[in-house]
Amino acid sequence: MSIRRILEALSSNDYRVTWQRWAVAAHIALKGDQLFTVEELYQSLKAHYPDIGLTTVYRTLDLLVDLGVITRVHGDDGVARYGMRVPGVTCAVQLRCEVCGDTRPLEIEQLQPLLQAAAAEAEMLLTSCEVRLDGICSRCRRERVSLGGAAPGTR
Ligand SMILES: [Zn+2]
Repeated sequence: MSIRRILEALSSNDYRVTWQRWAVAAHIALKGDQLFTVEELYQSLKAHYPDIGLTTVYRTLDLLVDLGVITRVHGDDGVARYGMRVPGVTCAVQLRCEVCGDTRPLEIEQLQPLLQAAAAEAEMLLTSCEVRLDGICSRCRRERVSLGGAAPGTR
């Protein structure tokens, strides 16, 4: 994730890259995957660019949200936090048999929006998502039954 992506989004949408926008872009890139408030970004910008105005920072952040480059997350405390948008996070769900170790992917379409919303609620910008379901596969359950053992879950 880089400053270049922000600047390209600006110029490809015919926005001038002013020094203020450049400075904001650079400081967002410095934050990496971290979420930050306008105030936090403003304070670190001000240390390097004393002339920069809070309104400019607000406007630039709003613009970048509109352009889809960064995401705005509203916390329980009512404070908006911003972070680099990570496009195309897919939730990988894996089934793993704890007896034979067999793993295979599982497609659950509804899971992704659900987890993304839950992550946003917790003020977490989702960057990757892995879910593993452990269990005993049907083949192993059949083998247990044929060996005379009780099938799990039938007791
Ligand atoms: Zn198995």
